[in-house]
Amino acid sequence: MKSIAALLLCFVFAGIANAQLKPPAESAMDRFLRYVKIDTQSQEDQTTTPSTRKQFNLANLLAKELTALGAQNVRVSEFGIVYATVPGNLADNSKVPVIGFIAHMDTSPAVSGENVTPVIHKNYQGGDITLPKDPTQVITVDKNPVLKELIGDDIITADGTTLLGSDDKSGCAEIMTMIDTFRQNPQIKHGTIAIAFTPDEEVGTGIDKFDVKGFGAKFAYTVDGEELGEISDETWSARTATVTFQGKSTHPGTAKGIMINAMYAIADYLNRFPHDMLPETTEGRVGFVHPYAGVIDVESSNLKILLRDFDVSGLDAKEKVLRDMVTQTADKFPQVRITIDVKENYKNMKEVLKNFPELTNNAMEAARRAGLKPFLKPIRGGTDGSNLTFRGLPTPNLFTGGGNFHGKLEFNSRRGLEKSTETLVNLVQIFAEKS
Ligand SMILES: [Zn+2]
Repeated sequence: MKSIAALLLCFVFAGIANAQLKPPAESAMDRFLRYVKIDTQSQEDQTTTPSTRKQFNLANLLAKELTALGAQNVRVSEFGIVYATVPGNLADNSKVPVIGFIAHMDTSPAVSGENVTPVIHKNYQGGDITLPKDPTQVITVDKNPVLKELIGDDIITADGTTLLGSDDKSGCAEIMTMIDTFRQNPQIKHGTIAIAFTPDEEVGTGIDKFDVKGFGAKFAYTVDGEELGEISDETWSARTATVTFQGKSTHPGTAKGIMINAMYAIADYLNRFPHDMLPETTEGRVGFVHPYAGVIDVESSNLKILLRDFDVSGLDAKEKVLRDMVTQTADKFPQVRITIDVKENYKNMKEVLKNFPELTNNAMEAARRAGLKPFLKPIRGGTDGSNLTFRGLPTPNLFTGGGNFHGKLEFNSRRGLEKSTETLVNLVQIFAEKS
C-alpha cells in the first residue's frame, strides 16, 4: 500500500509531467472539426460491410494520417476496418501488455450526416443554445445540466440541419491526438499500443468482422462514451422473445363455428404487460420488457419482445413473466395455439470484466490525473466492447466529452476533447508504470 506522501508525490509528478508536455502538432479540436465534415453515415439492413462505401473515405484518411504519425502495420481491411500499431519506446516493451484503443467512424442512420457544418460557440457563458439554421433545435440547460460545467468552454454543435457526428468522431480525434502527443513527446514512456477504427457500429454489424487476433492487444478500450469522467464496464444482458398466436382463418361468410381469430389473443397478451417494467417507465439499473414489433392477422399473429437487464437472474425473472402471461392468455383462448421462443442476444460484459478490475481502476486513475472526477455508469444497451469482451478481448468503454448522440442536438467541446485525450495519454503511462 502506498503512503499518502508517496501518493502526493505521484500526483505532483503527474502534474509536472503534463505541464511540460509539448502540444500535439494539430489540436484535438482542429482534428475533430476536419473529421465531422466527412459523411460516414451507416445504413440499416445492408448485406455488405461497410454498409455504405463512403465510410472508406474516413478510413483511408485515418490510415494515411496514422502512417504520417509514425504508426506501423497500418492497413484498411476489405471491411473498412483501420488497424495500426504504435510501437512502444521502453527498454523492454514485452513487459507491458499491448493496450488497444477503438473508436467507430460511422454516424447514426437516424439523422443525416451529409454536409455537416460545425458551429463553435466560443467562450460559452451559460443559457440555452439555439442552433443557427433551425431555431426549433435548442440545447437547453434544463435537459442538459452538464452545460453548467462548460462555462468558458468552446462548445461545438451542428448547425441544426444534421447531426454533428461527435459519436464517434470524438473518439477518432482523441485517439489520433493521443498518438500525435506521444510523437511530440518521446520522453513519455509507453508500451505498444494497438489502434482500430471500425465501421458500422451504429447498425451493429461492423464488429463481427473485427480481427481480434490480428489486432494483437491483450485489453482494449472503446472511446465512445459521453460526459467527461464516465467509464462503463457494464452493458445489458439481452434476449429477444417471439410469441406466436396460431388461429384459423376461413371465409367470414361461412365462418360460424370454424374461424379462430388469433388477433383477440394477441390483444389480451399485450394488455397483460406490467406497466412498471417497460422502457418508458424505467431507468438506471432497472431492466425492462419491450414489445417492439409484431404481425396481427386472423390465422397467425406474432409479437417480438426485447428483454433487458444487467443481471442474468433479472433477465430470467422477466422471461418467467412473459411465459406466465402466455399461460394466462392460453387459459382464456384455449383454441388459439400460443408458443414462445426466447433467444439470447448478448451478455453483460461485466461477467468477464469483473476478472480484470485493473482495466477500470487504471482508467479511473487516468481520469483523476487529468483533473476529472471519474464515475462508473452502466450502459443501457450493448457496445462493440461487449462483443469483443466475449471474444477474448476485455474492452470497457471510456468517455469522449460529448453528449446528445444520434440527434441534431449533439455536441462536444474543446475541453471535452482535450481532457479525454489527456486521459488516454495518462492511461497508457499508467499501464507502463504498473508493469
Ligand atoms: Zn458511438
